[in-house]
Amino acid sequence: MKSGFRSRYGRLAVTRAALVVFLVCAAAIAAVVFTLDLSARHSNRQEARTELASTARVAASTFSTMRANLRTRVSELAASASLQKALLAKNKTRLRSLAASHDARIDLRGRSFGTIPQGARVTATATLARHGQAVARVTMAVPLDRSLLAVLQAATPMPKHAALVLVQHDRVIAGGPSGTHVDLGADRIELGRVPFFSTATKLVAGNASLVAVESVSAVTARVNAYRRRLLFAAAITLALAAGLATRLARPVARVFADLARLTRQAQTDGLTNLANRRALDERLDDEVDHAKRLGTNIAFVIADIDNFKSINDSHGHQAGDEVLRRVAQTFAEAVRELDLPGRYGGEEIAIVLPGTNLTGARALAEKIRKRLEELTLTTPDGIAFQVTASFGAACFPAQSSVEALVAAADAALYEAKRTGKNRVVTATAKRKTRGRTTGADVPAPA
Ligand code: GH3
Ligand code: MG
Ligand code: MG
Repeated sequence: MKSGFRSRYGRLAVTRAALVVFLVCAAAIAAVVFTLDLSARHSNRQEARTELASTARVAASTFSTMRANLRTRVSELAASASLQKALLAKNKTRLRSLAASHDARIDLRGRSFGTIPQGARVTATATLARHGQAVARVTMAVPLDRSLLAVLQAATPMPKHAALVLVQHDRVIAGGPSGTHVDLGADRIELGRVPFFSTATKLVAGNASLVAVESVSAVTARVNAYRRRLLFAAAITLALAAGLATRLARPVARVFADLARLTRQAQTDGLTNLANRRALDERLDDEVDHAKRLGTNIAFVIADIDNFKSINDSHGHQAGDEVLRRVAQTFAEAVRELDLPGRYGGEEIAIVLPGTNLTGARALAEKIRKRLEELTLTTPDGIAFQVTASFGAACFPAQSSVEALVAAADAALYEAKRTGKNRVVTATAKRKTRGRTTGADVPAPA
């Protein structure tokens, strides 16, 4: 049973079926893995962005608090009795020591006591007035630098690989390669050629922004464990698919073979092994469509065996069948690969000839007619007899549709029969229906 099956479907067909099943499963698995991986990476990126946005917001609010503290400290120093006293007494030493102990600068009538950080900074100033006149100014500053970032970073809960960068006028001033241009609206930036996901929040002071960043590779690495599990599951499923493919190979090969056989059968004439009427009709429709589009020719030839009834009557139906087979074989051997010969009716054989004009069709029909003439057939009893056929040929676009083409070939065939059989008649454009003989070519000599 098994070996019979093997011989019927062949090792190659079974292997091919296994491959088809496996590839279908593999494609489905790949689609699922790809989709899962894509959505995991997408939600991972979204999560990273949300975290970065909240990091930047929290850090900016910590910065606001620091700034408010700075203003409070400035006001407190300005209002302090020790500063008032030193100002009244114009005690320069005291003013200098007060400024130094508070990290402040005190400006008094053009003179400054103490220093504050230079460069990018945020300042708070309080003015001391007497009788509506400014007499002194107290200024404190927070530098926008790495140490500020360190304070903010320590006060802000952030993802493990995230960091803060300070940007002023779209250029990095701390936390990255300083001077690097940063597009604050982008959710991806490059710092020192390394790509980062980023979210920026504007600081109220100093035209500065805080940018929370996390390297793209660090964000991607977060899904690596999930992706490894996914790949592992895919590998297991693929292995199962391979097993399934081996299991299903034979039944699938059988289905393929049956399908191919059924398709062949639906298109083939059982007696002659030529194409059947349906296949001829379909091919003719297709070829005429094709010829219309490309502006090419197509010829259609119908042949009918002469006096076939008398062959049946004299030698028996079996012999008649054998004649049909031999005639069909003669047709099959005479045509080109792209021509389609088929059994059109009882003892009628037609040929669809793409890219062929009337002259070509006549030449082919004449060749077959002669070969049939030369054919010697014998009955089972050893009696030799001859067979001839008559041919009608027509051509598109001289005949402008499939129906006109068939009718013209048919009418030419009728003309061949009427004028003595065993001959080829080609239709002219005028000929339309069987029985009307206007415009017939001169029949070929028999
Ligand atoms: P003509 O030269 O005018 O074509 O004469 P004819 O005898 O060939 O034409 P007719 O239509 O009178 O006869 C066709 C015969 O073909 C009738 C039918 O019995 C026979 N025939 C049709 N199909 C088959 C077949 O599959 N096998 C056999 N043996 N004969 C068939
Ligand atoms: Mg006949
Ligand atoms: Mg007939």
